Amino acid sequence: MSSIAHVRFCQFHLCIVLLILMLSLPSRLLCQQTRQLRDKQAILSNIVHRNPQREQSNATMDKFGLPKRLQGSKPSVWNEYIGLAMKYKPLNLGQGFPDELPPSYVTDALADIAKSDNPLLQQYTRGYGHVRLVQALSKLYSNLVGREVNPLSEILVTSGAYEALYSSIMGHVDVGDEVIIIEPFFDCYEPMVKMAGGIPRFIALKPNKSNGTISSADWVLDDAELEQLFNNKTKMIILNTPHNPIGKVFHRDELERIAALCRKWNVLCLSDEVYEWMVYDDAKHIRICTLPGMWERTITIGSAGKTFSVTGWKIGWAYGPANLITNLQMVHQNSVYTCPTPIQEAVARGFELELERLGSPESYFNSLPQELKIKRNFMAKFLEDAGLKPTIPEGGYFMLADWSSLGNKIDLTSETDEYRDYKFTKWMTKNMGLQGIPPSAFYGEAHKKLGENFVRYCFIKKQENLEKAADLLKKWKS
Ligand code: PMP
Ligand code: GLN
Repeated sequence: MSSIAHVRFCQFHLCIVLLILMLSLPSRLLCQQTRQLRDKQAILSNIVHRNPQREQSNATMDKFGLPKRLQGSKPSVWNEYIGLAMKYKPLNLGQGFPDELPPSYVTDALADIAKSDNPLLQQYTRGYGHVRLVQALSKLYSNLVGREVNPLSEILVTSGAYEALYSSIMGHVDVGDEVIIIEPFFDCYEPMVKMAGGIPRFIALKPNKSNGTISSADWVLDDAELEQLFNNKTKMIILNTPHNPIGKVFHRDELERIAALCRKWNVLCLSDEVYEWMVYDDAKHIRICTLPGMWERTITIGSAGKTFSVTGWKIGWAYGPANLITNLQMVHQNSVYTCPTPIQEAVARGFELELERLGSPESYFNSLPQELKIKRNFMAKFLEDAGLKPTIPEGGYFMLADWSSLGNKIDLTSETDEYRDYKFTKWMTKNMGLQGIPPSAFYGEAHKKLGENFVRYCFIKKQENLEKAADLLKKWKS
């Protein structure tokens, strides 16, 4: 190669190298910048992540999480829907509580007690139940169950029926024990059983017809399915009659079938009878503990909140044979210990008055169901008029209604919940100003779909509020 050609060749290569360098410069710069950024981030993240205080707080958070037995717990439907009601201020037919004044004799009694010159009425009372109250309960239930119920050993006064359920379950269910729960069920049964280490086994009540008027009596258990659930591991079955949310009042033959299985498999029956005084038409509340061979294996639960329309007083009780009640007493004394004295005293005075007029027309236990029956009929009619399909309850103060035929009138896509009844009730609260409760909350995970077409409304409400609900639905329909 000539020297000129050599120089040209070198110039050409130099140009190429320069060109490559120029072209690659931005990306090299970019790479460099990225690297620097990454280094900076690493330093920063080191500062953040390696911050010993931060490390400690992460460890603290892990350590302070829910214990294993409570993992997976979420706020209950009550906590969620009370929050929703506070935010949107709907007409609230959701959570079950009366919006009218309770009978004045119980509130007057409480006022008298607050002003009493007996100082002991403001102090701790007997842990297992204020003596005047357990005596009144003993008188009432001895009469109703046809045997002497010992006030001191066979009754426990609790912080609402909730605590009676809790103490019964904690006091009997051991790790690995199976507990049969009838769906739909008052929602706390399942988490309480799990907290005790028990295994819930579910069986659903299902309507046995789909046309015409449906009564709560049409919701039944499959006998063969029930029988299959009982085995040597079964510790307990939880019964709820009159039932929340269906309003079913279990008939004698249904109770006899459950009782026979309890006897056969030596199983306890936890009978939640908080709506014992609210039965309509020809329905009759039968206490399962009165069936042959059942007293010795039944714990029955009641609630002053339901009995005297004072749900905020949170006084309940459990009664049954002493060998079972003593187990509840052990849980109660180590958790709640004793319930408020003035409230127990006021409930006792309320029962004393009712005991004198039991069975007479003036008795609150007679007048309340009569008033409720009118409200029940009013609600059933306005729900039907609006295109919903109610189940007519024989007891309690809730009504389930199938809303599925209205599904095409509303666009529920704005609601993100998994189950349609949650979407529907939230949509209704926000857009129609009417709150109900989504019944899928009353089913175990595998059966939640069974509740999706329904909404639960509460009818122990002032007539004017029921009328407002009727108007809201009427306007919506038109
Ligand atoms: N069981 C059932 C079926 C209920 O509906 C309720 C209502 N909260 C309870 C138990 C608990 O009653 P309390 O308010 O007395 O705790
Ligand atoms: N028993 C009432 C109901 O079912 C209240 C329940 C609650 O507040 N936990 O609505």
